[in-house]
Amino acid sequence: MESNPTRMCELLVGLPAVHILGIEDHEGEPLRVHIERAESRAGCPECGVVAESKGRSVVVLVDLPVYGRPSRLVWHKRRFRCLEVTCPNSSWTESDPKIAAPRMALADRTGRWVTEQVGRNARSVNEVAGELSCDWHTVNDAVVAYGSALVDDDLDRFGDVTALGLDEVLFARLGKWKRQHFSTSIVDVDTGQLLDVVPGRSGKEPMAWLNAQPQAWRDEVAFATLDLSGPYRAVFDACLPNAVQVADPFHVVKLANSKLDECRRRVQNETLGHRGRRDDPLWKVRRLLTKADERLDEPGREKLLGLLAAGDPKGEVKMTWHAKESIRWLYAHTDHDLALEFVERLSDDMADKDLPVEVRSLGRTLKRWKHQIAAWHTAQVSNGPTEAANNLIKRVKRAAFGFTSFRNYRIRALLYAGKPNWSLLKTIAPH
Ligand SMILES: [Zn+2]
Repeated sequence: MESNPTRMCELLVGLPAVHILGIEDHEGEPLRVHIERAESRAGCPECGVVAESKGRSVVVLVDLPVYGRPSRLVWHKRRFRCLEVTCPNSSWTESDPKIAAPRMALADRTGRWVTEQVGRNARSVNEVAGELSCDWHTVNDAVVAYGSALVDDDLDRFGDVTALGLDEVLFARLGKWKRQHFSTSIVDVDTGQLLDVVPGRSGKEPMAWLNAQPQAWRDEVAFATLDLSGPYRAVFDACLPNAVQVADPFHVVKLANSKLDECRRRVQNETLGHRGRRDDPLWKVRRLLTKADERLDEPGREKLLGLLAAGDPKGEVKMTWHAKESIRWLYAHTDHDLALEFVERLSDDMADKDLPVEVRSLGRTLKRWKHQIAAWHTAQVSNGPTEAANNLIKRVKRAAFGFTSFRNYRIRALLYAGKPNWSLLKTIAPH
């Protein structure tokens, strides 16, 4: 039996009124602290008649480490029987959510602690489970139960949003074929707060999410940012008809780079009849091509032009490279009307039938998205916060070594990048 008062206090921090019945200390095993509730009487929850005690049942809960050692709270729960003969409630076991939530394998204080360790500090579930000397599921179930409450029950987690962005994120590769599973992040583009994550990258789920928000909230959204994706455009057309749509510059430039890559591989194949090999000029030039022109020094630029002269007889890769650089120049403009004129002229030029097929395809995309692309210059919403939110999500994914369950992924991403109000962690009721 423990008698040192300081050590007694450490054992009881955060617990309601309990008696310590004894402590078991076996070498190499978690410390076992036996407790019972201080309150020994109970009324029948059905009829209120004072109940009769009818033995005990024992529940073992994973608890916080004490004196640097893993521990278990061994709760001796009283069983009761109703004395009222007409009452249908014959017997029950006492419960106390302050000790442990129903069906939870962790003590309540420990459930809150693991939620903060995993959710806020992005520690891996495995690492925290190791520290508590329990299994992965025990910790993960608690993070999901307390974490859901923290992100979903707090209706004030996010306020008005003036610039909202949709962005697809790969969250898992599942099964034998490593099939890719996507999700859509819904982000406050001004602050970088992750508002929510919904499954898939079609328009259906983001549309349902937006429709679930109050009309007044949707009316506040002045700018809606997106990649060059048709489904997200349809979502904004339908749910935020008054918001100015803004194409994310990062994705515009990315598209130009991927067209350049396509062209390089096609020309490589047409001229040499095989995929790029180490000594092929078009293979050697691949990194220089996607690098921003102003970052190339003079020798780099000469090397690029030399390799293109050697591997690109019709100048097709060079033309596509010029197209990519022109698109990058678009963002040097600061005036909306000039930018729109620039995109229009550029997409017309790119329609020339003598240009490589990749440039013409790029031109058609620019034409289809010209208003969204030029709107960037009106909105001046920075891409930074969305990228910051995406980087946080990536960090969560690394800590988790990839997710297999969308629910786990959503809760973890929101705990880390959704700016939950952590001061509520003490009071929320786990799901
Ligand atoms: Zn009763």
